[in-house]
Amino acid sequence: MRGQRAVVLGGSVAGLCAAGVLARHFDEVVVLERDRLPPGAEHRRGVPQSKHPHFLLNSGRRAIGEILPGFEEALIAAGGMRLMPSMDAAYCENDGWAPRKEGSMTMVYSSRVLIERVLREKVRELPVIKIREGVTVTGLRSTGGGTVNGRVEGVEYRDDDGDHHLSADLIVDALGRGSSVIDWLVGTGWAAPPERTLDAKVTYTSRWYDLPPAEKRPPAWWWKHLVVTPTQDTGEHPEEHEFLSNFFPIEGDRAIVCMGSWGIEMPRKAEAFEAAVDKVRATTFGTATRACTPTSEVHLTRATGNKWRRFDLLDTPPVGLVCVGDSICAFNPFYAQGMSSAARSALILDALLATRGAVDSAFTRAFLAEQKKSLDVPWMLAMARDQAYGFATGTETVAPWRRAVAARLSWPVFNAINAASREDAYVERTFAQVFNLDKSLREMARDPRFWFGIARYKLRRRLGRTVVPGGFDQRHDPPGTDYTALAARRAALVDA
Ligand SMILES: Cc1cc2nc3c(=O)[nH]c(=O)nc-3n(C[C@H](O)[C@H](O)[C@H](O)COP(=O)(O)OP(=O)(O)OC[C@H]3O[C@@H](n4cnc5c(N)ncnc54)[C@H](O)[C@@H]3O)c2cc1C
Repeated sequence: MRGQRAVVLGGSVAGLCAAGVLARHFDEVVVLERDRLPPGAEHRRGVPQSKHPHFLLNSGRRAIGEILPGFEEALIAAGGMRLMPSMDAAYCENDGWAPRKEGSMTMVYSSRVLIERVLREKVRELPVIKIREGVTVTGLRSTGGGTVNGRVEGVEYRDDDGDHHLSADLIVDALGRGSSVIDWLVGTGWAAPPERTLDAKVTYTSRWYDLPPAEKRPPAWWWKHLVVTPTQDTGEHPEEHEFLSNFFPIEGDRAIVCMGSWGIEMPRKAEAFEAAVDKVRATTFGTATRACTPTSEVHLTRATGNKWRRFDLLDTPPVGLVCVGDSICAFNPFYAQGMSSAARSALILDALLATRGAVDSAFTRAFLAEQKKSLDVPWMLAMARDQAYGFATGTETVAPWRRAVAARLSWPVFNAINAASREDAYVERTFAQVFNLDKSLREMARDPRFWFGIARYKLRRRLGRTVVPGGFDQRHDPPGTDYTALAARRAALVDA
C-alpha cells in the first residue's frame, strides 16, 4: 500500500528500524523523539541501558541489514568487529574453559551507542524520514475507541513551542519499556491488553575500560571476549561464582566489563565492583580487568523483567497503531533478544504493508498474529530459564513442581549441549540457531538428531572415547590452542 503519513513514537533501535521500513510505503515518515540525538556514539537520557553490553544476534543483524542495507558494513567501518565467538571468545563453562575452535556463528561486536549512531546515519539517508528531536509524545487521538470501527488517528506531543497534534495513517509505538501508550489507549476508550510478566530479578552492573596496548598484554590474552557462566557447584563458594560475567569488547580498543545475576545484590560502587571482579571463578576475568583502565563509573540496572503486552488477545485491538520493540515485549537482557525482536517486528510490518491494501482491522489482526509468532520464539527461551527461580514474580511464575523441573534441567541441559558441541557440529549449529532466534526452542526440542547427538556424546564421554578436550582449569588462563581440525575430523568420524 501507499499511505500519506506514518508517525513513529521514539527514535531508538525499534523506532529507527520501523521508520526504515515505513519509508518504503509512506510519502512521509515522522519520528518523534524526546531526546536531542547526539551526532556521535554517545549515551543519552532516554536509553540508559546503552551503558551495558549489547549483543546483536545474527537474526537481528540480518533483519537490520534488510531494512537498512549496508548497516553491517557501516558498523564495521565505524569500529565494530566481526568475530567468531567460538574462536575469538574464551568461554568458561560449567566444567571450565571450552576448547577454542571454529563454529557456525559470527557476531559483530560494538557498543550499543555505536549501533544507534549507525542506524541514525542510515535512516537519515532516506529523505522521506524526518526525525523531530526534543519532542515529547503526550497522548493519542482516536475515534470510536474500543469499537470495531474505532481507529487511532493521531498523536499529541509537546515541544519547545507548546502542544501539538499530528494525524497519521499509521502510528508505530516504539517508546520502549516505559511506553505510556496503554494508558493513552485506555483514556480514549480502548481496552488494555492483558500483560504477561516474569521478573527474575536480574541485575546488571557494568563499567567501561580502555584495554592496555596489544604489546602490553600477556601472550595468554589471545581472546577478544571473555564469558564466565554461573557455577553449578553446589558447595561453598563466593556469590560472585554465580554471576554471569562478561568482558565485552567494543570499538576503540575498549571493553565493557559486566557482571549480572539472577536475584543477587550487585556492586554499584567502583571499589566493590573491582573487588567482585577479582572473585569471579575464572581468575583471568579479574587479572584482565585490572590490567585495563576504567573510564566510567559503575552503572547498575534492575529494569530487566520480561513483559509482553498481548494486543493479539484483544477482541478489538486498536486499528491504526502497532507496537514494536520493548514497548510490546521486553526481555531479560541475558538472552540478548531485544534489538533483534524489534527489527524482526519491523520486517513483519514491511511484508504486510507490501501486500495489504489498507491499514484496517484485517491488517491489524494479521500483524498481531505474525508478531505473536515471531515473539513466541524469544519469549519461550526467556521463560525456560527464568521460570526456574523461586523469587521470580509475575503472571508467568509456575507451580513449584514445574519450577523444580526447570531448575533441575535448564543448566544441566545447557551444559550438556555445550559439551556435545565440542564434537558434534549438528548440535553446535542447532543451538547457535536457537540462540540467534533462527530456530525455536520447540523445534530444537522436537529434533531427534539433536538429542541423539547429546546422548551419543554423553555415552562416549562415559566410555572415555571423546577426543576434543574441554573443561580446562578455570584457575588458569584459557588455552589458545585451536582445536578446529581435531573437532572437524572427530565430527566426520563419529557421523560416518
Ligand atoms: C541492561 C540491558 C542490557 C541489554 N542487552 C541487550 C543485548 O545484549 N541485546 C539486545 O538485543 N538487547 C538488549 N537489551 C534490550 C535493548 O536495549 C532493547 O530491546 C532495545 O533498545 C529496543 O528498544 P526500543 O527501541 O524498543 O526502546 P528504547 O531503546 O528503550 O528506546 C525508547 C525511545 O523512546 C524515547 N521516548 C520515551 N518516551 C518518549 C516520549 N514520551 N516521547 C518521545 N520519545 C520518547 C526514548 O528517548 C528512546 O529513544 C538490553 C536491555 C537492558 C536493560
